[in-house]
Amino acid sequence: MNILTLPGDGIGPEVTAEAVRVLREADRRFGLGVQVGEALIGGAAIDAHGKPLPDETLAAARAADAILLGAVGGPRWDNLERALRPEKGLLGIRSALGLFANLRPAILYPQLADASTLKPEVVAGLDILIVRELTGGIYFGEPRGIRTLDNGERQGFNTDVYSESEIRRIGRLAFELARKRGRRVCSVDKANVLEVTVLWREVMEQLATDYPDVELSHMYVDNAAMQLVRAPRQFDVMVTGNLFGDILSDAAAMLTGSIGMLPSASLDASGKGMYEPVHGSAPDIAGQGKANPLAAVLSVAMMLRYTFGHARAADAIEAAVGQVLDAGLRTGDIMTPGCRQVDTRGMGEALCAALRGD
Ligand code: NAD
Repeated sequence: MNILTLPGDGIGPEVTAEAVRVLREADRRFGLGVQVGEALIGGAAIDAHGKPLPDETLAAARAADAILLGAVGGPRWDNLERALRPEKGLLGIRSALGLFANLRPAILYPQLADASTLKPEVVAGLDILIVRELTGGIYFGEPRGIRTLDNGERQGFNTDVYSESEIRRIGRLAFELARKRGRRVCSVDKANVLEVTVLWREVMEQLATDYPDVELSHMYVDNAAMQLVRAPRQFDVMVTGNLFGDILSDAAAMLTGSIGMLPSASLDASGKGMYEPVHGSAPDIAGQGKANPLAAVLSVAMMLRYTFGHARAADAIEAAVGQVLDAGLRTGDIMTPGCRQVDTRGMGEALCAALRGD
């Protein structure tokens, strides 16, 4: 397992260090054969090389089987011109590697049911996987721009476009993932208004005939947004395009309470992936040992599951997270009365102890 880490900025290096600590412990227990390299991205790369995605970082990313990213960005680099900003490094690596599928689980650990803004009885046991198309749709469609009309008024315009092959590729992945979970796919579109999603729905229907063991349903995006906060447990796998997925995955994320708990994966056509916490570089708490490393650790579990197909090691890491929460250990962001507060490293070490069975 040739893994490249890109710790990045702010709390990125802190949470990545704990994720790697846990990965090495899993390696000892399961004999995974892990090799971990490291390269610069974001603000750290700007400081060292003058650009957010240096050529050697991209080359190392191409050569790796999987990438573990921390987070990029921070106020230090906010005044740079857009092309040189840390976030450009992130967008650059995603498109250079052809990472077309973004997987965002929203799982509510029962121990943290009180952290959600929804009532515990609505969210307890929540386990949704949102599969978002990441390289097409309106974010990339042409033509796009701002033009001046004959009457002198300016007009902004974008194009929402999906070809059948793009829809089939993301749809097939969603069906395959559903087979490993609750065998239900909900495809989210706006087929009552947008032709691009009429085609989306047709292709999903065609695909469903290859997966008779998976139940396909369709939902308009406005209803999906409502259902996510009304009765989120009805969903297993949700699949949708780039724009709707961007919005729905953030809404689903917040059902779980803390941004420090949420991992994500972006996959290419061969299953190679970049894994990263959903949160950013959290400059307000960087360097203080306050960061919750669980999102980064759970990103490692996703990596073992989706790129390396090692479900046992992934299950063990996820179980260790459950055990540590059961034991009442919490970082500050998920702290509640009666629990014991630990720092970033303390959480990583507790996870390793749980993995060892200490
Ligand atoms: P953020 O996610 O960094 O922080 C939002 C809030 O959540 C902060 O109060 C922070 O302290 C808290 N938080 C985040 N992660 C946490 C963790 N693991 N443990 C405990 N608390 C945590 O979002 P922001 O403040 O909007 O952005 C800060 C910087 O991060 C910006 O430069 C932004 O561009 C960048 N950013 C990067 C990514 C990425 O690298 N994928 C994503 C989002 C934002």
